[in-house]
Amino acid sequence: MLEQMDKEYVLHTYGRNYVNFKHGKNATLYDENNKDYIDFTSGIGVVSIGHSNDILSNAICTQAKNIIHVSNLFLIEPQAELAKKMVELCGFDMRVFFANSGAEANEGAIKIARKYGEVEGEPKRYKIITLENSFHGRTITALKATGQEKMHNFFGPFPDGFVYAKDMDEVLGLCDDKCVAVMLELVQGEGGVEPQDKEKIQHLAKRLKEKDILLIVDEVQTGIYRTGEFFASNLYEIEPDIITVAKGLAGGVPIGAVMTNLKDIFSPGDHGSTFGGNYLSSAAANAVLKILENDKTSGKLDERMLYFSDKLNKFAKNHKEFINKVVGLGLMRGLRINSSDNLTKIINESFQEGVLLLKAGRNTLRFLPPLTISQEEIDLGFERLENAFKNIS
Ligand SMILES: *Cc1c(COP(=O)(O)O)cnc(C)c1O
Repeated sequence: MLEQMDKEYVLHTYGRNYVNFKHGKNATLYDENNKDYIDFTSGIGVVSIGHSNDILSNAICTQAKNIIHVSNLFLIEPQAELAKKMVELCGFDMRVFFANSGAEANEGAIKIARKYGEVEGEPKRYKIITLENSFHGRTITALKATGQEKMHNFFGPFPDGFVYAKDMDEVLGLCDDKCVAVMLELVQGEGGVEPQDKEKIQHLAKRLKEKDILLIVDEVQTGIYRTGEFFASNLYEIEPDIITVAKGLAGGVPIGAVMTNLKDIFSPGDHGSTFGGNYLSSAAANAVLKILENDKTSGKLDERMLYFSDKLNKFAKNHKEFINKVVGLGLMRGLRINSSDNLTKIINESFQEGVLLLKAGRNTLRFLPPLTISQEEIDLGFERLENAFKNIS
């Protein structure tokens, strides 16, 4: 019934699995038959502190009972607190603009770069270099920034000014006098859980600074402790000019943010959002950051990451028949599977066994568990994955 209704009335943009989840706790979800699943996806890196976290749901309820929304034409206390917290946690001298999604955060980043290229001397600069296999979102401009030609079918014409580098080594060669920014993910997520080389990134960051070209780091997936530090930029020890955030920031309440050290780039009227950073999403994000900051300082987060990593490496060693390589950082991990057919089988069979997994790129089995996942949940998830592999062999 529900499946029919969904098919009849909702546009068919997703390869949807017709399971009906009813509730969840931390990294465990329950469907309508009360069958439980270990969630190694966090809703694509969103429920960073797991399902139905008490501190988060209380923060949301309390805020909802007071004020959910006033416009950005008035002060919003939790928004200001959130901006301050984000600046403190990353340690960069920046200001924050709030939006509602990753794509929108990236739109903000592109507007900042374009304005910088317009007002910062002659000639006007507007080109932004991104990487092949990158993913920056689904709006027309973020899609054009996404270096995957196959996703551009049907939707042109696009805004001008995006140039794709094959890899990191090609980036500097593409920096001409029209180039205002380079935009990249430090670990490509959708592209296949592909971490960039730290030394190459540091070298690029240094050269861009010399050339007065902005570095935009898309931390929509890597941000908010996903790779072990608050931002992957902290882990790579670079200071970008612009950082975008979304997915894990408010634990499932829609939010996006763009941060920049160009603290006065915008004047009133240059950019805006009706919903961005309202009371509800900001209060949720404040609760999420409080929990994750505690877990980081107490060592719990690093402990979980080590435990997960250990399990993943052992699992890969025992399954060379399917697995070519372990990839990723922190709790953003992947297994390169020897064929995309096998990858599809593994994801379907894992679902039957009660563990939720994602695909990335053409042949990567992707793991994005909640950052709060327990050892028991990790153990159970890998046990079920083991069964799934047995069923396929
Ligand atoms: C998911 C993602 C986006 C898009 O975020 P939306 O909230 O879906 O708009 C952009 N960049 C990266 C790196 C992402 O992983």
